[in-house]
Amino acid sequence: MMLTHDILIVGGGLTGLRAAVGLCDKFNVGLISKVYPVRSHSIAAQGGINASLANNPDGRDDTWEKHTFDTVKGSDYLGDQDAIEIMCKEAPGIVYEMEHWGCPFSRFPDGTIAQRPFGGGGFPRTCFSADVTGHSLLNTLYERAVYKKVKIYPEWFVTSLCVEDGQCHGVIVLDIKSGELIPVRAKVTVFGTGGYGRVYRNSTNALINTGSGIGMAYKAGVPLKDMEFVQFHPTTLIGTNILMTEGCRGEGGYLLNNKGERFMQKYAPTAMELAPRDIVSRCIMTEIEEGRGFEHPLGTYIELDLRHLGKKKIIERLPGIRSICMDFIGIDPVKKPIPIMPSQHYSMGGIDVNEKGASPIKGFYAAGECACVSVHGANRLGGNSLLDTIVFGKLAARAIEEELPKDKLKPKEKPLLSLKAQVEKKINKLTQAGGERPYKLAADLGAVMSEKVGVFRTKKEIAQALDEVKKIKERYINVSVSSADPHMNYELHNAIELEYMLEVAHTIVLGALLREESRGAHFRRDFPKRNDKKWLKHTIAKMGKKGDPLISCKQVKITNYQPMERKY
Ligand SMILES: Cc1cc2nc3c(=O)[nH]c(=O)nc-3n(C[C@H](O)[C@H](O)[C@H](O)COP(=O)(O)OP(=O)(O)OC[C@H]3O[C@@H](n4cnc5c(N)ncnc54)[C@H](O)[C@@H]3O)c2cc1C
Repeated sequence: MMLTHDILIVGGGLTGLRAAVGLCDKFNVGLISKVYPVRSHSIAAQGGINASLANNPDGRDDTWEKHTFDTVKGSDYLGDQDAIEIMCKEAPGIVYEMEHWGCPFSRFPDGTIAQRPFGGGGFPRTCFSADVTGHSLLNTLYERAVYKKVKIYPEWFVTSLCVEDGQCHGVIVLDIKSGELIPVRAKVTVFGTGGYGRVYRNSTNALINTGSGIGMAYKAGVPLKDMEFVQFHPTTLIGTNILMTEGCRGEGGYLLNNKGERFMQKYAPTAMELAPRDIVSRCIMTEIEEGRGFEHPLGTYIELDLRHLGKKKIIERLPGIRSICMDFIGIDPVKKPIPIMPSQHYSMGGIDVNEKGASPIKGFYAAGECACVSVHGANRLGGNSLLDTIVFGKLAARAIEEELPKDKLKPKEKPLLSLKAQVEKKINKLTQAGGERPYKLAADLGAVMSEKVGVFRTKKEIAQALDEVKKIKERYINVSVSSADPHMNYELHNAIELEYMLEVAHTIVLGALLREESRGAHFRRDFPKRNDKKWLKHTIAKMGKKGDPLISCKQVKITNYQPMERKY
């Protein structure tokens, strides 16, 4: 069986659904997701989405230009300023569109959409639905997609991307229920496959966030951009690393060390707890390293104190946070501070695309967290990622709508059939008994990434990580799973994804080793200063013939904002 669509979208998160809704009236669109769309990681987003609506009485003179400046500064000047301008200009329209489609935003007493302050934002511009913003947005878009009769293939797992002669022909899919392999041909393939958080052991991301889409695009010859930039969120619950939204600090929460000090005063006297994430994460790690953390059997932590907000506000604005704390660590934040530590949270780098979502491969687009436009540069501001997914999902759809009729792309069957045969061969090999089990390699990979390529980095540690990643890649050759049953064989899917996770990790580590400066989330203890002369540029990773990444560079686009020192 071979399926054919004009446009194939992989990903049922905000990006994939927004692209599908934009295209389904005019084209034959199919949307594939390895989980039911509303189980995508977008559902977990808590704190909100940025737009300069200027509804907050403290932010009446907010504008898209100010949002642009905050984002450029937050990116440590690595973001492409033309793309950031587009995103910030589109933001208010996107939020009102989601509102009109039924998204239940929290409100101010005058009925306008409520906005709270977020890290690195000069104005309170983060729109939210209590602390379940992703849930509200994703269900709104999913309902819209169902209403518009988008053809959805849930629980279909894409194993490989088919690229030949510089053109994308579609993908190979494994139907999770039946175990059948199906080639899907399409004129245009769009990836909205999300981030790679699970390459790290300690992450706020869902277990499904393996970055397999990024890895399979890379293996098929698509370049990746700025992979060394990994965001670590300052406030994740000790033990499980479940996110404690920046909204906690946006609503007025404090960070305290074991001396009871609001230590952010020392590091960012103006922004305090609402400095950007890269800075707050480093401050927390410094407090812990210098002995001012609290000891706990699960690790050393810092306190996130919400008690002074009072029960009423916590229940109204942060109900999800309260119940997570009570369920997972037995603490009611109304009565006690929350024990937190930084952990991996977001993938700034990703598939190299322009502001239309187009990659250098004909017929292959990407948007959202798997892509790098780049609007986040070296450090993403909280609330800008939900915005990125919907804006660039929409703009990719618009570009495809304009360009598809002109391009006259003819995807071929032959490369798809030969790729399918390769995947079959691979599955046969993975299901031969006797090899090492994939979970062991995944655990070793996660450990080395969390321990050696984290908030603070050194040449020695990154080189060790590179060595270890290469060793795990060698072990991968002999991986096998415990059952050959094709039906719902999640261990088999994990084994297939692991290959891509290793490629993703390899590009992160190599990029981190080469970039001998500190910028945004990439902090090298051995090169603690930003070096604009040498490194005001994007890194591009392409897979070399021998399998190692080849790294080149690309100019950063600067429009109105010359690089300055970042002070908060
Ligand atoms: C806990 C948490 C809270 C967050 N809170 C906020 C916030 O408040 N504000 C903000 O701006 N950002 C927030 N973020 C970031 C933001 O939520 C994400 O960046 C964004 O939702 C990603 O959306 P996406 O559509 O790109 O991908 P996702 O929502 O991750 O969706 C990826 C989709 O791809 C599919 N997929 C992946 N691989 C395959 C494959 N091989 N085959 C088939 N399907 C595949 C998956 O099934 C899924 O449907 C948060 C992130 C986390 C983890």
